[in-house]
Amino acid sequence: MGLLDRAGSNVMEPPTQSAARLRDRHGRAITDLRVSVTDRCNFRCVYCRTGNEGAQYAELAHADYLRMIRLFVGLGVEKVRFTGGEPLLRQGLLELIREVSELRSPFLPSGERLDLALTTNGHLLSDLAQPLRDAGLTRVTVSMDAVDGPTFAAITRVPKSFERVLAGIRAATAAGLGPVKVNCVLLRGFNDGQIEAFAEFSRREGVIVRFIEWMPLEEDRSWTRDAVVTLDEIVQRLSVYVPEGLGEAGLFPLAANAASETARRYTFADGRGEIGIIAPVSRPFCGHCSRVRLTSDGKIRTCLFSQTDHDLVGRMVRGGTDEELNAYIRMVVDGKEARHHIGEEGFQKPSRSMVHIGG
Ligand code: SAM
Repeated sequence: MGLLDRAGSNVMEPPTQSAARLRDRHGRAITDLRVSVTDRCNFRCVYCRTGNEGAQYAELAHADYLRMIRLFVGLGVEKVRFTGGEPLLRQGLLELIREVSELRSPFLPSGERLDLALTTNGHLLSDLAQPLRDAGLTRVTVSMDAVDGPTFAAITRVPKSFERVLAGIRAATAAGLGPVKVNCVLLRGFNDGQIEAFAEFSRREGVIVRFIEWMPLEEDRSWTRDAVVTLDEIVQRLSVYVPEGLGEAGLFPLAANAASETARRYTFADGRGEIGIIAPVSRPFCGHCSRVRLTSDGKIRTCLFSQTDHDLVGRMVRGGTDEELNAYIRMVVDGKEARHHIGEEGFQKPSRSMVHIGG
């Protein structure tokens, strides 16, 4: 007998294609689902958390996440990213990934697997990289905001965290989860001196470094536009940088992998190292957004900056059939926001901060 969810339906039924692919009213196909499995986190990064608050929302049984993911896959989701909070804190994550890796999209060619990714702070990754790969994970993104120990610890507020995360990145590469993406949020005055060191790190470790502009999604109210290190600044700095042993400066754009790709990609004169820049503040890319999110407590969020979330798990608990839940998902996704309004007059902070949404 398969795994049963709390409403008693079999969550391991294969996803069935439910008419047309999921789209919003702006014509954007939704192919990318981010699932938060906890809003607990073992880091207290200064740009994300106050340092005083803990988890605020419930975690669901794995069968509930599995059923919701199966429904989204039946509607056209092809990429699932597990996140949090810190997803590696969640017990049973490997089992959930194993179950999700068995799902097949009715929209993909027969036999083609879903793209299963994980975003983690890397603190617990070194021991888990191979088990994650064995469970069916395709790739991993590690958040790392400095490439030296003291700066890293000042940001995460966890001593000796850098060495553990570095070991996690190397273990992930060795386990075949590469090329590992390393995400760095730059904060003026904190880690903006690290841009060139990150270029070296990318070249030396064979990882893709991606700088992300800081967004107003933190628990307290510390965001200012001036603290954001923008795409233009990063490009300017790296364009004049001469990588070690290369003897020549220059930053060269790479073609996008897909229209919905969030990062602008670059490399150096010898093609070693890859730098991506994700610029939601200075170059919003909402027109190509293909994402929706599920929070750890089972709510759909159609945008990081949504003012409300939508109670999918509540409908499941009350006995909603797959058809009813699919209709609900379609209705919610139809109303996905056209774009965010960061930096505009009247901008309102979203109803949840990043750690409680799932990044
Ligand atoms: N704990 C995991 C991790 O550290 O990757 C997953 C959750 S974390 C919220 C996901 C990503 O969001 C991290 O790369 C983090 O740096 C990024 N992030 C957090 N707050 C952000 C903000 N205000 N603006 C941009 N990125 C942010």
